[in-house]
Amino acid sequence: MRDVCIVGGGVAGLAASIFTARAGLDTLVIDGGESILARNASLENYPGFPDGVDARRYLQLSRDQARNAGAEFELGRVTRAVPVDGAIPSESREAGETGDETDLEQGFVLETEGGDPVETRRIIAASWSDSEYLVPLDVGRMQRGSKHFVDVDRGGRTAVDGVYAAGRIADEPHQTIVAAGHGAKVGLAVIHDSDANLYHDWVVPEGYFTGRDRDVPPGCEEIDESERRERDEQARETMLEAFAEPLDERPTMHPSVDVDDED
Ligand SMILES: Cc1cc2nc3c(=O)[nH]c(=O)nc-3n(C[C@H](O)[C@H](O)[C@H](O)COP(=O)(O)OP(=O)(O)OC[C@H]3O[C@@H](n4cnc5c(N)ncnc54)[C@H](O)[C@@H]3O)c2cc1C
Repeated sequence: MRDVCIVGGGVAGLAASIFTARAGLDTLVIDGGESILARNASLENYPGFPDGVDARRYLQLSRDQARNAGAEFELGRVTRAVPVDGAIPSESREAGETGDETDLEQGFVLETEGGDPVETRRIIAASWSDSEYLVPLDVGRMQRGSKHFVDVDRGGRTAVDGVYAAGRIADEPHQTIVAAGHGAKVGLAVIHDSDANLYHDWVVPEGYFTGRDRDVPPGCEEIDESERRERDEQARETMLEAFAEPLDERPTMHPSVDVDDED
């Protein structure tokens, strides 16, 4: 049983996974395709990249960061989510009960196309634009045109305990930085709702807390100057290597546009 399973390894899902994995939650990301950001030609409004960045590079680096944090990945489209002990009776939910028959504390089962079912205590749906697999859970979806959005509170919590939604699917603005920020925020809500002990996910200079006779709060880390330099060196090396050569991949074109690959 995973602590948290994130459906969708795009912008919001990756950001959420970095936070939940760093907080020590056993985190699995299941991705069934490619982020819609792979269609972008040059990502120029994400803070930290003054002249923009190749969007596929950004996604690749975010995946590396999630892996470094301890998140695991599985490929496959999620097709159905149900409680471990069976379907939620909708009459009980309408009456505001989860009922003895359905104990959501026992978690959920995610069925995937071609893969083994995955059991998880919590689900983050970060799967723009598919939320069909949540229908059996009756989380509360809103339809606008051909798209469905999941109804959530400020922390990304849906009407069903243990099920969250992040990014565009939660009706956040269609921008990368917003989806990433929302993913992080929903990750923090999951951490808050689980047993993980977290104050802030911060790395601070040695003495920042202890120099004031305070304990280092859970989730924070004090590092000395030589450790800081070592980490900075590693970080620069990683980025220099990542940006040394342009990526071969081209943006994915909208499926309805005819493209001549010889161009
Ligand atoms: C052409 C184009 C250009 C853009 N350019 C910019 C830009 O310049 N700047 C900007 O800020 N934003 C841009 N965006 C918007 C940005 O890409 C999105 O807002 C952002 O990617 C939303 O993040 P998300 O995590 O919600 O969705 P996504 O990043 O799309 O991630 C969703 C993930 O869920 C997976 N998934 C879906 N269904 C399932 C399922 N059933 N099971 C498992 N996995 C599933 C998908 O494979 C995908 O990896 C652009 C978008 C497009 C289409």
